[in-house]
Amino acid sequence: MTKNATLTLADIHKLAADILLAHGFSEHQASSIADTVTAAERDGCTSHGLFRVGFYIAALKNPVANATAEPVLMQGDSSVVRVDAMHGFCPRALQVGLPALVDKARSHGTASLAINNTYNIAALWPEVEMLAEQGLVAFAFTSSNAYVAPAGGTKPVYGTNPMAFAFPRKNSPPLVFDQASSASARGEIQLHLREGKSIPDGWAIDDQGVPTNDPEAALAGAQLAFGGYKGAALALMVELLAGALIGDNFSVESSQHDTHGVGAPLGGELLLAIDPEHFGSGNYLERAEFLFEQILAQPGTRLPSQRRYDTRRQSLEHGVEVAGVMLDELERLKVKG
Ligand code: NDP
Repeated sequence: MTKNATLTLADIHKLAADILLAHGFSEHQASSIADTVTAAERDGCTSHGLFRVGFYIAALKNPVANATAEPVLMQGDSSVVRVDAMHGFCPRALQVGLPALVDKARSHGTASLAINNTYNIAALWPEVEMLAEQGLVAFAFTSSNAYVAPAGGTKPVYGTNPMAFAFPRKNSPPLVFDQASSASARGEIQLHLREGKSIPDGWAIDDQGVPTNDPEAALAGAQLAFGGYKGAALALMVELLAGALIGDNFSVESSQHDTHGVGAPLGGELLLAIDPEHFGSGNYLERAEFLFEQILAQPGTRLPSQRRYDTRRQSLEHGVEVAGVMLDELERLKVKG
């Protein structure tokens, strides 16, 4: 087995992009996916880094998945922007839609971006962080495949349904949180399986509805929402926002499209952006800092996103250590077929 190796961010980007190009992805699709994979590795979000390259390739087994799709932007006079991703991957659809969302938020105060017909295999923090870097408050929601049981149930209905939020800061990178509504992201269970580790209590039940610590049984059974019925209600909200509201798949419908079981959700993403200047409070940045100071005055606290920013600083200086097992898998992926 190959040893762990330290790669630069440029190495990681090239590695991901070259593999995707070899599998028929267009330049735009490959480079936008490589951007998100590299950002995830940079920030220590391993389950959305190079680990995901194989998922993008496997998604092409679905007959409608389009590795060369060019998303179509639609906007009128209202505050809503739409992007039809044309069954391509979400990073490229975001590149096409986000600038229009920023413009709409600045002119209308509040604006939304609905991305439809997209395969979404990524974390949501890059898009909300980018919006907050431009001074906007941002939210993002997407459903996935049916992996999570409803409160009291034993069979999957909801996706792991992440939601992300970002708030601009004065002299620091934005405050961001990005979390699944399940007790864990599915990728975390897959990584535990790969590494031969058991999963913590409360993450999943097996296919008989019995709580399990076995990652394989968890993947065959159902994941659990975080915080019981409260997390399940958030998963339900995400289904309604990223499914019913914007006219796209629920997680149960996305699962039906995932005919090869590759774990590539097909559906929509909803983003909301608010320009704080329209509220005219004048001191929202200072008020936010006051709150952060109250939190951080307590030992044991940190702000969400601080771990990512700390890891980012390290990665920019020293590169990223990539596991040998991952490098072996990427080597296999270089061979098409
Ligand atoms: P985590 O539970 O690891 O983290 C959730 C959030 O909590 C992060 O913003 C994290 O900040 C913050 N946080 C963690 N610990 C603390 C702490 N002690 N104090 C303050 N804040 C803290 O994330 P999940 O496992 O729920 O989700 C992982 C990723 O999976 C997300 O990026 C999500 O978008 C993605 N995902 C994507 C799906 C898709 O279909 N596209 C489906 C489901 C999930 P920090 O990052 O700084 O640690």
